[in-house]
Amino acid sequence: MQVLKFGGSSLADARCLKQVSDIVRAELRENMLLVLSAPGGMTDSLVELAELAQSGNGFEQAWQQFYERAHNLKREVTEVAGEPSNWPDFNALKQKLNGVELLGLCPNSVTAYVISFGERISVALMQALLHDLGAHYLSAQEVVCSVGGYLDAEVDLDASKVKFQQYLKANPAQVCIMPGFTGANEQGELTTLGRNGSDYSAAVAAACLEAEVCQIWTDVDGVYSADPRYITSAQKVDFLSYKEAMELSYFGAKVLHPKTIVPCAKAGVPCEIKNTHDPKAPGSLISDENVSSEPVKALSSLQDLAMLTVSGPGMKGKVGMAAKVFSALATDNVSIVMITQSSCEFSISFCVHQQDLALALRALESAFELESKAGLIEPVQVQRNLAIVTLVGDNMRAHKGLAAKFFASLAQAQVNIVAIAQDSTESSISAVIDGELCNDAVKVCHENFFTHIPSIDVFLLGCGLVGSELLNQVQKQQQWLKQRNVKLKVRGIANSRHMLLNSDEVNLDTWQEDLANCAQQFDLKLVEQFVKQNHLINPVIVDCSSSGALAAQYADFLNSGFHVVAANKKANTSSMAYYRELKLAAQKHNRRFLYETNVGAGLPVLDNLQSLFGAGDQLLHFSGILSGSLSYMFGVISDGLSLSEATQKAKASGFTEPDPRDDLSGTDVARKLLIIARESGLELELDDIEVESVLPQGFAQGLGVDEFMAKLPELDDDFADKVSSAKAQGKVLRYVGSIDNGKCRVGIEAVDSEHALYDIRDGENALAILSAYYQPKPFVIRGYGAGAEVTAAGVFADVLKTLPR
Ligand code: ADP
Ligand code: ASP
Ligand code: MG
Repeated sequence: MQVLKFGGSSLADARCLKQVSDIVRAELRENMLLVLSAPGGMTDSLVELAELAQSGNGFEQAWQQFYERAHNLKREVTEVAGEPSNWPDFNALKQKLNGVELLGLCPNSVTAYVISFGERISVALMQALLHDLGAHYLSAQEVVCSVGGYLDAEVDLDASKVKFQQYLKANPAQVCIMPGFTGANEQGELTTLGRNGSDYSAAVAAACLEAEVCQIWTDVDGVYSADPRYITSAQKVDFLSYKEAMELSYFGAKVLHPKTIVPCAKAGVPCEIKNTHDPKAPGSLISDENVSSEPVKALSSLQDLAMLTVSGPGMKGKVGMAAKVFSALATDNVSIVMITQSSCEFSISFCVHQQDLALALRALESAFELESKAGLIEPVQVQRNLAIVTLVGDNMRAHKGLAAKFFASLAQAQVNIVAIAQDSTESSISAVIDGELCNDAVKVCHENFFTHIPSIDVFLLGCGLVGSELLNQVQKQQQWLKQRNVKLKVRGIANSRHMLLNSDEVNLDTWQEDLANCAQQFDLKLVEQFVKQNHLINPVIVDCSSSGALAAQYADFLNSGFHVVAANKKANTSSMAYYRELKLAAQKHNRRFLYETNVGAGLPVLDNLQSLFGAGDQLLHFSGILSGSLSYMFGVISDGLSLSEATQKAKASGFTEPDPRDDLSGTDVARKLLIIARESGLELELDDIEVESVLPQGFAQGLGVDEFMAKLPELDDDFADKVSSAKAQGKVLRYVGSIDNGKCRVGIEAVDSEHALYDIRDGENALAILSAYYQPKPFVIRGYGAGAEVTAAGVFADVLKTLPR
């Protein structure tokens, strides 16, 4: 005997129904029992009809739609297969609904009748399509014996087994078709088995008939490592144990109703999940035959939960309190999804479906009325809108560190864990979390446990030289990133006037044009919304602007869950208090704040300093050439050029800022020195740095760039004197930033050939760090420290550092 169940998604229209009948013919060997759901979405329409009728708000329009859909299906099937012979009585249904409307009440027995009507439609249609096989209609009421109410009934397997076997003996047919989702109670009244319950019907039938297989045909290839609707990279799981399937379905994998597995497992019937739309695709097999070694099989999630906490001095050590809580809930038919208890027994917390919350509260209130009056029980605490994320796999018990990885993944998704539970056989670990973040949590966990392809989502602010070079490099590196299993997408670009967002990925061939066409300006709130909507789990804001206003928002960026990568130096050189705030915000939100290019462009300076000082080294002395333009100018000056000639040459070669006074004033070097000083642990403000400008105070003040350049030769003679007196001592002039005994200074220094900075010129930067570990010879970092290419590469490297470690 084969049992095949087809779900609503396989029966949505006449084409699907025909497809199912083809599958039946192809699969049929000796005997088959077909279990059918209602056509997709029809049970929802019937539930709505019952609600509308009861509410008295009129159900005529909804009825018309339902009626037409059913009769269109009937017409289409009749055209190819002839009139269905067991077409259900629509008048009887309408009369029931009229009665409900009149009474303003819909008893559960009537609800069961109404909402199971769709299954009867499917069965009638399929019977017509399989007429040539002599398909026999088997009423579930004849064979499925249920207990416990009309709507969420359980099946009595032993009683059903007798009925199933007797019935089939009396009515031998090669193919029987039975409506799923329904049964009958001891009085023979119609009952339903809970929403999505046709899977359960099929499992019951398979167990009772000791079938060789129970196939669940649906709209996906099988059980996936996560819900494929949300996780596009989810992978099909070939084999699962009964236990694994049970845990998964219980904790929300909709592909199987949670009650399906027990009957199959009890009877040892393997359960196969197959895709109606791709019958040849291998499905998933659930049995205890195939033992696989992977520790983690899949992830599932359950939403719309509430957690209740019962606590109070009366709970401590008192025997039977937990029993009292749970029996109160059981009496009112509230199902408990998960339980945790604090170790001091002072409180018990448990999750229920949010729709059961009011009922649960009432049940607890009346059960604990006396204790509450006596002050032994506190008012029940409620947390709403929660979700449970569960990791499932029988082999988890043999592996260490999985729980740690699970919780680290949740932290990475910025998710706070409300409660934790692990089943005693260690086949599943569950965490209760904020419902809003459920999809993010599943996405990160899936990335970390299954695809192993971490993602980075970049939002670039400022697309001048460095910003556009970064985009260029990102585009060029895609292949490299792919080989290294990293998914880096630019999702947004903004300049001072426009902001471009793309929920897939910004097109890096047309970004300039696309950005110019955007009317919206950069707005953190919009980017935040975008990140939420698209469930981006590793968003990075990259600031390649030089805007003080943006730098002032970094704390907000970090607090909103973004990593921040800054080429912009303004944030780190604003007040010490803000510098500290940024470090704290990054730490608190488990985000990175990276700014390697603030000093030495692409040179690995700050990362090295942080490692050094983080490991306990101490700065004794620092001196460095921190400006590419001044390195160039002082180099050619030592070759014999005058100050004005050197400036002119640097400017013409594009080595200076548009106004060379920005370089010659020394402020940019002072900012870099300040950052180095702060990294080494000094608490300083920009004003604390002594700055010796190359230019005398007030020189060419108020003049334009050209006038300044014209006036500059006035300084040449004095400057030449300095150069030659240095030369007389075998020294050259360099523009140096230094830290000595906690004091910071930038200015011109004469250095001899022994000095680490003597050879530094042509735009090179060099940093000599004399420290407790590196002395008497300093640790030196040297290389080109300017230019859009190296700076963008430094920014890119920072962006990659945001990957989970
Ligand atoms: P049917 O109408 O056939 O009963 P359902 O909609 O009840 O189909 O169940 C199939 C759906 O279950 C799939 O379309 C899929 O979106 C969802 N689903 C959730 N979790 C999983 C999972 N882990 N593997 C496969 N499907 C899943
Ligand atoms: N038709 C019912 C429902 O939608 C049962 C099922 O599809 O399994 O809940
Ligand atoms: Mg289903």
